[in-house]
Amino acid sequence: EPLVRLRNVTKTYPAARGRNEVRAVDDVDLDIAAGDIQAIVGYSGAGKSTLVRLLNGLEPATSGSIQVGGTELVGLRERQLRPIRLGIGMIFQQFNLFESRTVWGNLAYPLQIAGVAKAEQQRRISELLHFVGLPDKAHTYPRNLSGGQKQRVGIARALTTNPSLLLADEATSALDPETTHEVLRLLKRVNEEFGTTIVAITHEMEVVRELADHVAVMENGRVVESGAVYDVFSSP
Ligand code: ADP
Ligand code: ADP
Repeated sequence: EPLVRLRNVTKTYPAARGRNEVRAVDDVDLDIAAGDIQAIVGYSGAGKSTLVRLLNGLEPATSGSIQVGGTELVGLRERQLRPIRLGIGMIFQQFNLFESRTVWGNLAYPLQIAGVAKAEQQRRISELLHFVGLPDKAHTYPRNLSGGQKQRVGIARALTTNPSLLLADEATSALDPETTHEVLRLLKRVNEEFGTTIVAITHEMEVVRELADHVAVMENGRVVESGAVYDVFSSP
């Protein structure tokens, strides 16, 4: 039983202001096993971000079936999606940290929303800051961090609620090669030490090679190729 199971998933955006209807995701089937690192690659406009927004229930699918941890997301109401989203972490290209909060405040936020008791919040935040190598940055504001440090905070924040699934949307695209390498190593450790399943959107082949076990190639909303990284990249 895969952790993520997509069947015939289609997402269309309605026609607007002289634009035709867009079929952003077109009849996609995809299985992602628990504990796997799955890369989604493809050119700009291929449908990668839409696919990830479907996975965390930020956009409703037009048709098809999306199961995460055995729960069908398609057709759920906002109120029913909320607890499922707590089990799904997200990290972003531009980090999306709250600039007006310290690192500690950024990590505390999802725990407050989840209603976690204060003592448990402190234990968890302290543990995660050590895990990402920033134990002395608790009271620092994001503007005083480097890009790599910001993404470490982003990763720590995504892990606060112990998600089984971590979605990464171009998480290293704003970073230089050396910092990219450090962040990818950290994501590998997340996968190995916590067993977190990772779905990583990227347009960088180096990221796929260094990070992923499996890769799906998207073109015009469709998955045109999918399999183990080694097989997909060694095929003619
Ligand atoms: P990628 O992440 O691979 O660049 P996207 O999922 O962002 O691709 O976009 C896929 C297609 O859907 C593109 O044609 C894009 O213009 C369109 N699209 C994405 N989001 C919206 C939206 N909110 N409204 C209308 N069209 C959209
Ligand atoms: P914000 O700027 O978002 O308010 P703060 O750094 O001021 O974030 O901290 C928010 C809450 O977390 C405060 O109630 C504070 O007591 C607690 N807190 C912050 N840092 C620590 C820490 N290192 N150890 C224990 N509690 C902390």
